[in-house]
Amino acid sequence: MTKYIFVTGGVTSSLGKGIISASLAKLLQARGYSVTIQKFDPYINIDPGTLNPYEHGECYVTEDGAETDLDLGHYERFLNVPTSQANNVTTGRIYQNVINKERQGEYLGKTVQVVPHITDEIKRNMRLLGETGKYDIVITELGGTVGDIESLPFIEAVRQFKWEEGAHNAIVIHLTLIPYLAAAGELKTKPTQHSVKALLEYGIQPDILVCRSERSISLDIRKKIALFCNVNVNAVIESLDASTIYDVPLLMMKEQLDKTVLSKLKLPQRNEPDMEKWKEFLGRLKNPTSEVKIGLVGKYVELPDAYKSIIESFVHAGSRNECKVKVEYIHSEGIYPDNAKEKLSHLDGVLVAPGFGSRGIEGKIDTIKYVRENNVPFFGICLGMQCAVIEFGRNVLGLKDANTTEINEEAEYPVINMMEDQKNVTAKGGTMRLGSYPCDLKKGTKAFAAYGKAHISERHRHRYEFNNAYLAQYEEAGMVASGMNPDSHLVEIVELKNHPFFVGGQFHPELKSTVANPHPLFVKFVAAAMEFAKKKTK
Ligand code: GLN
Repeated sequence: MTKYIFVTGGVTSSLGKGIISASLAKLLQARGYSVTIQKFDPYINIDPGTLNPYEHGECYVTEDGAETDLDLGHYERFLNVPTSQANNVTTGRIYQNVINKERQGEYLGKTVQVVPHITDEIKRNMRLLGETGKYDIVITELGGTVGDIESLPFIEAVRQFKWEEGAHNAIVIHLTLIPYLAAAGELKTKPTQHSVKALLEYGIQPDILVCRSERSISLDIRKKIALFCNVNVNAVIESLDASTIYDVPLLMMKEQLDKTVLSKLKLPQRNEPDMEKWKEFLGRLKNPTSEVKIGLVGKYVELPDAYKSIIESFVHAGSRNECKVKVEYIHSEGIYPDNAKEKLSHLDGVLVAPGFGSRGIEGKIDTIKYVRENNVPFFGICLGMQCAVIEFGRNVLGLKDANTTEINEEAEYPVINMMEDQKNVTAKGGTMRLGSYPCDLKKGTKAFAAYGKAHISERHRHRYEFNNAYLAQYEEAGMVASGMNPDSHLVEIVELKNHPFFVGGQFHPELKSTVANPHPLFVKFVAAAMEFAKKKTK
């Protein structure tokens, strides 16, 4: 029988429910349990695919092509197990399902209401992954903060769920904040007390409190919290600010969060969590023997969450190479042919980011011209790869004003073109080329050397593609298609023959990099940057 853990948040947003959920899941997994995490988000979009990155950070894409919340990225990076559409559900999806059922007459004769119809649909979705029989434990992270109007149906669903399943089969972990007031020189528990009171008003007694704090929480304060919030002292868990999110599982282990959870769920403790590999990863991460500076050129740089998975992929690849990767955000709108050198010459490598629309694209192309001509290691992702193709077309092949039809539908040389099966698509949301597709690698290329095999699969999210009408011309001039989809013959990877490292992928490698499996292209890119840095100092 599957057991359920709900993670709610109180006091303020951004306390890191996703990291706490992923860390707990990691510890339970390391004790031999099979665990998955799902996220329920209270907004009305069907999924975050239609949200601007400034609104909600990166849109994370799963193997099965779901456009999801970026917390699913943390789940995969920590657990090294893929998630799916079922792992992310929004208010919009719940209402859409209920309204569809209403139109099909499933509630015929009844008034359709938030309680019970919406809450029933929420509970049905909360059980879906558990019912596959694949998981001992399902962790459900509730987006938003307790007390928000829009979270109410979810909280009510959790109350009912807990009551239906019984105290030992479904528990609630509430994440709160214990602020430190410098003027008083004290940690303050009142916001936590209030937030637990709010939960109690909705009929939920949390089983465990995880308290975010800048300072260590003394036993006295823990006792006070326990007394006012009706929990055991050992169920008051301290979560101190960590220097890296990858420390959090070990911090939670020290606080015995996993043990407390298992005893509340009446599950055997099994073995102590096997975190050896994780510790090795952390050891390499924290004791680098070299350092590189990588420029991340994009147009959403004001909000680092927009590039979450890319940043984390650099952490994984850095650890693998025992190299500290310093990522410098560079706004693509600020780069021009005459300042490219000044903006880029101090870097050991440049990644040109994914993106949509015309803003900032010329700066990306100017960046690529500089790194191509100056042998700076380059990695282009999705739009970044497309820009590399445009740049090569314009400046090497002499295709004047070569472009993507995303920017100029009338381009004389449409070297990047809308994919055939996208041409009749008008609906937005879930309609791009999404999810995992196979790719065959050409022997003797950098891509092949990185992966060390001929058949791979990677995740996608795009509407435009390399225009194969130009392929022969490109390959002859030294930009080769080193990765191709075996079925559709879409170009998935381009690279330059005469360059130390110049690789562009139409897919998103950052979505598949995990602590256990750093992505090979990121690992090789960082290695190339290390080489470049070494040569520079010589
Ligand atoms: N805008 C480009 C396309 O749709 C690239 C998308 C991306 O970078 N994810 O093809």
